[in-house]
Amino acid sequence: MIKIVIDPGHGGRDPGAVSEGVEEAAVALDISRYIAKELKRWKIDAILTRGSDSEKPSLTARANMANKAGAAVFVSIHCNAAGSSRARGLEVITAPNAPQATKLARAIVEAVKENHAASLRKKAVKTDQELGRGDGFKITVLRKTKMPAVLVECGFLTNDGDRGALTHKAGQKLLSVAIAAGIRSYLDKEVETMPDKPAKKAATKKKAATKKKAEADAALANHEKDKNEANILTAWDKLKDVFKDGKIKPAEIPTLLEVAAEICDTLAGLLLVLAVDPKIKAILATASKILADLAISIREQLPKIQGAWSQIGGIMRDDKIEVREVPELLEAISNLVEALLSIAVPFIEPELSDDFAKLNGKLKRAIEFINKVTGKTRKNRGPLIPL
Ligand SMILES: [Zn+2]
Repeated sequence: MIKIVIDPGHGGRDPGAVSEGVEEAAVALDISRYIAKELKRWKIDAILTRGSDSEKPSLTARANMANKAGAAVFVSIHCNAAGSSRARGLEVITAPNAPQATKLARAIVEAVKENHAASLRKKAVKTDQELGRGDGFKITVLRKTKMPAVLVECGFLTNDGDRGALTHKAGQKLLSVAIAAGIRSYLDKEVETMPDKPAKKAATKKKAATKKKAEADAALANHEKDKNEANILTAWDKLKDVFKDGKIKPAEIPTLLEVAAEICDTLAGLLLVLAVDPKIKAILATASKILADLAISIREQLPKIQGAWSQIGGIMRDDKIEVREVPELLEAISNLVEALLSIAVPFIEPELSDDFAKLNGKLKRAIEFINKVTGKTRKNRGPLIPL
């Protein structure tokens, strides 16, 4: 079994580049794991230089790990950052005068392009000397490794489109599958068909490998599609359940929101899988990120919403609202507004959310006032305690 080393950059107390709360070390580890998993399907043993976010081997230790393992190639995974949020795209770095590493870098860039897996920098393959970080800039892991070694800067965390794709599972998978395909195509050409093997056999092998790759790619795409379709169908079943009696009961609102979160998640995945044109891909990646975020904030607020609903349900049980129940009802409504507001905040005008927050503040003060007048303190207030 052919062995290679994948090196997720940074780790331990070094998060690498950080933008909008996204840390390079974590993204690099996610992508490296996906690449290793993908390569395993092709009977390539990909060893990671670190397996968790708390580990941080030294740069020399990472290179030595690959040297000792006799790895066929070394691929370091990083993300870029820049002062300008407009800088975007993937690039692959090699040491200078390294023809095999350059071939590996080109194969990766080619596969990323073919799979529309990420935007590319204008000059997507360069040496560490060409990075423009001052004279004599050297990347240790590229220079201390004895096999062809490259460093993939997967994209810019400081660019909204790149960051969106790099932090979403579907975007990470798409890119990982492409990088793995690049590594495979290099190994196929440069390692599997060494001169000591008969050319004819190698050609047959390559043909078989190409066919196998096409089949596996199609299977993977189908699997993603099936999974998304299954998710939509489950969500649809739940929706039908909620609507079967022709109206939404208050108790069904939390289920409805849960379904909404699921649909957001599924759509977020679908957008990334279906986007083939690189131009719309960046836009869809951003849209997908928004949907995924929406799903997260809906789920975050669900317990609060459920609590408020059951409180309201308790008060309305007897189909009437008594005077003593008014403060509690107001409080439940206020909690509900608060939860819905925090879901909506990223998507509405700041003035509008300010207005709602002010209104809710007034409501809260009114509840406090009523509680004070009726002698009820905030502490001993609970559901359905008579005043
Ligand atoms: Zn880095």
